[in-house]
Amino acid sequence: MKKKVLEQTREAEENMADNKEPDTKPAVDRAQLKALLSWYEKNKRSLPWRDAPTPYHVYVSEIMLQQTRVEAVKSYYLRFLTELPDLKALAAVQEDRLLKLWEGLGYYTRARNLKKTAELVVRDHGGELPREVSELKKLPGIGDYTAGAISSIAYKQAEVAIDGNALRVFARLRGDERNIAEDKTKQAVRKELKEALVYAGLSPERYSIFNQAVMDLGATICLPTGRPDCENCPLKRTCIAHKEAREQEFPVKTPLKKRRIEKRTVFVVLSGNRILLRKRPETGLLAGMYEFPNVLGHLSEKELEARFGKEEMQLLRLPSARHIFSHVEWEMEGYLVKPSSGAEIHGISGLLGEKDLDDREVWAAFEELSGKYSVPKAFKLYTQIALDLLAPSPEAL
Ligand code: SF4
Repeated sequence: MKKKVLEQTREAEENMADNKEPDTKPAVDRAQLKALLSWYEKNKRSLPWRDAPTPYHVYVSEIMLQQTRVEAVKSYYLRFLTELPDLKALAAVQEDRLLKLWEGLGYYTRARNLKKTAELVVRDHGGELPREVSELKKLPGIGDYTAGAISSIAYKQAEVAIDGNALRVFARLRGDERNIAEDKTKQAVRKELKEALVYAGLSPERYSIFNQAVMDLGATICLPTGRPDCENCPLKRTCIAHKEAREQEFPVKTPLKKRRIEKRTVFVVLSGNRILLRKRPETGLLAGMYEFPNVLGHLSEKELEARFGKEEMQLLRLPSARHIFSHVEWEMEGYLVKPSSGAEIHGISGLLGEKDLDDREVWAAFEELSGKYSVPKAFKLYTQIALDLLAPSPEAL
């Protein structure tokens, strides 16, 4: 493998020597490209999806890596591949099972789009992901970056994959003050990089190496938070941000919109050895997942009394929890609801002010809560409390 990489690097360097520099300064010049490729050759990360970069492997890993750290993705990726080894298996999996496999990764729309894409590819493309970026981008959940990654890494096409990491690296390298939050900046950088790589004479099959080198540099050296490790960066001699000691000023990114705060009251309802879960609607945030019944707002004592103040119900305050989504933040107050003695609760939709929701309610035993129903990470604290309540008691010694 190492020999092959060395040969490919030499070949790319020879190609570079045959091409003329453009009139204006390219986004990345030949010397920088050479330094970057040599650095990658010695420092590439060993990642499970790089062992056999089939289109499916690249696709699944890139979707998982959106919004999730590499270290966290590794075990999910291996488990996912063991159960769903190809697009056909992904297209056929039950949604509840898919969401369970995805549980903990968050941003569940990604999982649903994976399945939708698999179904379309099996139906319309004979089970093979398309090779062209323009075709890939027609599939649900595949944008410029993922399409560029699949096309270059799996199909060895001359495509660039520009994500936040790449935008940061090139903004610093070039001292580029354009706002990377704007789509026009992303499109411009993509175009400039493609032109620069053509000028540099990078052979099509080497775009895969270039993209992965930028990914690794952004993840291990030119870090998004804290000080970048410029001393060990192959680009430090020509990096404008580093020369001017302005690394922290790049990339320029408009501040994100302030998140909306949403207060919620969450109920962990215990009856016998089961916990009440409710399936969320099929559209919107956390669509189709299971949750602990909850209502908007923090209910006052009086409001709680009005709903649960019956003699046969006990209400105990649980710790509060907070969960941050991209545009909204939940501030949750929790309560354990259980019968005072022996009685059973059959559902609390009515008590929550929601009618006709019984078909979305399920009573889950310990094994079902831990292994069948996917409850979003937002309810992690309450899931743990529920599991502790349901856990089979240890046998007496
Ligand atoms: S020299 Fe520093 S700021 Fe410039 S690309 Fe390298 S790590 Fe990033």
